[in-house]
Amino acid sequence: MPTLDPATRQALAARLRFYRDLGLTEFYRRPVDLQANDEPGAPSTNNLGAPGPGSPRSGLGSRGGDLASETWDSTSPSLPHHQEPTIPPRKPIFTPTDVPAAVLTADRVAALRIIREEIGDCTRCALHKGRNKIVFADGSPDARLMFIGEGPGADEDAQGLPFVGKAGQLLNNMIAAMGLKREEVYIANVVKCRPPGNRTPEPEEANTCLPFLFRQIDVVRPEVIVALGATASTYLLGQRQPLAALRGRVHSVRGSKLIVTYHPAFLLRDPRQKKEAWTDLQIAMRELGLEVPARS
Ligand code: SF4
Repeated sequence: MPTLDPATRQALAARLRFYRDLGLTEFYRRPVDLQANDEPGAPSTNNLGAPGPGSPRSGLGSRGGDLASETWDSTSPSLPHHQEPTIPPRKPIFTPTDVPAAVLTADRVAALRIIREEIGDCTRCALHKGRNKIVFADGSPDARLMFIGEGPGADEDAQGLPFVGKAGQLLNNMIAAMGLKREEVYIANVVKCRPPGNRTPEPEEANTCLPFLFRQIDVVRPEVIVALGATASTYLLGQRQPLAALRGRVHSVRGSKLIVTYHPAFLLRDPRQKKEAWTDLQIAMRELGLEVPARS
């Protein structure tokens, strides 16, 4: 076992504590003494059995057809929310610094269930008062691609699933245009309870809920995350910038590549932006090694 420098040893101890706080002790192969691990000269106890970065994931299907932006649902009903929101002046955004070791593929379902159980019948922020159902996530725990939106709307609140309304239908079409199926990706939101009137979550609410999302990201460990809209990109990146300044680039968050695009509800309101969104999705496709259709 190579000798670790104090900084690395402390980082490993912090990572193990993070797992213990999650309740993920089942990943330890032998008992871990976190206290001893903090002390100079203590041996490393990284027993998490992390797979390598190239570990296999559930297969992403081959492209199902020559779909492009113009084939997306072009209906544009008037929606009450998700105009690309103006994020209020922000407080410092919670961003856990430690990215824990990857969770074994076989343990991801259990790890996500533990997070859901920890959320419980959550009353940690004011959004609990108006919700019907907590919207945890939907999709594959082994997904290579993750979509993150802002928060549940009325349909999602009723069903307890993210992106199941009209905006969800458009997201499904966007996913299909990438040559994928909804079941192959993972979908979540910044907040898990519906904000009243579909307003943008307050910083207090988003920051309270955000640790759960970061834990989900750490478990799924997607290769690429697509942030849908300004709220998702603001809280994932920990910085507030106009969407235009963030699009068209590959960012990094918690070990995953991050692409920023418009929220589907915004695209329903302004279908002219679908072409722009398709450009963003093609960046994600290239990062995933998916075939990008040639320009017609
Ligand atoms: Fe809890 Fe998140 Fe719902 Fe707030 S939004 S009550 S933190 S689950």
